[in-house]
Amino acid sequence: MARVAYVNGRYLMRDMAAVSIEDRGYQFADGVYEVIWVQQGRPVDLGRHLDRLDDSLQSLGISRPMSHAALKVVVGEVIRRNLLRNGHVYIQSTRGVSRRDHLIPEGTLPSLVVMASRESQRDAHIQEQGVAVITIPDIRWKRCDIKSIALLPNIIGKQKASQGNAFDAWQVNGHDIITEGTTTNAWIIGAKGEVITHPANHSILSGITRQVVMELAMEEGLSVYERPFTVAEARRAKEAFITSTTNYVVPVVSIDGHKVGAGRPGPVTKSLLKRYLAHMARDGE
Ligand code: PMP
Repeated sequence: MARVAYVNGRYLMRDMAAVSIEDRGYQFADGVYEVIWVQQGRPVDLGRHLDRLDDSLQSLGISRPMSHAALKVVVGEVIRRNLLRNGHVYIQSTRGVSRRDHLIPEGTLPSLVVMASRESQRDAHIQEQGVAVITIPDIRWKRCDIKSIALLPNIIGKQKASQGNAFDAWQVNGHDIITEGTTTNAWIIGAKGEVITHPANHSILSGITRQVVMELAMEEGLSVYERPFTVAEARRAKEAFITSTTNYVVPVVSIDGHKVGAGRPGPVTKSLLKRYLAHMARDGE
């Protein structure tokens, strides 16, 4: 286990690392986060993650805890002090410490925690075999684009998936549209081989993996459509897959027990995974 964490200006042994019980992240989930994959000691797509962190902070009116340059140094230090080769770095920034009050206090210093988690290279099994997903009602708020630490609906959904022997749960809005997974973005491949994923509006998190995979798909000459799709359309799709920082590109071979396509990972998904793995190997700052 990685043992050193950065907490508000200090590098501490993880079991000594703590924040105040009056931190608004603890009291109100008044904060945001990022998860960044580390490959061979290098953070993948760090710049994009820090830009999204800024967007989340700005949407909530929380000031930046530090500049990108300084945050890159802290991320590098956490990787170095933990001798991290493969795994992820977690960044959390909250509105800071103040007496418990729903009203937003003025002038608090944002809190910043950066920690690391060692993981072996992703188990290739899920990529080779594909995974099952279930569908659940999307009961979240109307600003899913903010990477907020308030994750209760996602946690409950992921638990339901696990209880149903599925890898993730695809969330479905009141119009039968699949928005995204609980920890992943959702994609399908249409009849003409076109790549389809929900538009990056307030209903989903604009995944960094999603952004990169869209670019890789276009590079491959595929038609990419950011448009809503229904559960029925997903069931009829040729292929389906999910994307996220910690799972890359994972084929979806069944939805609510119905086979997708041939019930095996399809060629488009496999090719996008291959391109994404190459991107990860290339990237890093
Ligand atoms: N949607 C949700 C709700 C998520 O929690 C995540 C992962 N944090 C994603 C999508 C995928 O985002 P990314 O590719 O940036 O990891």
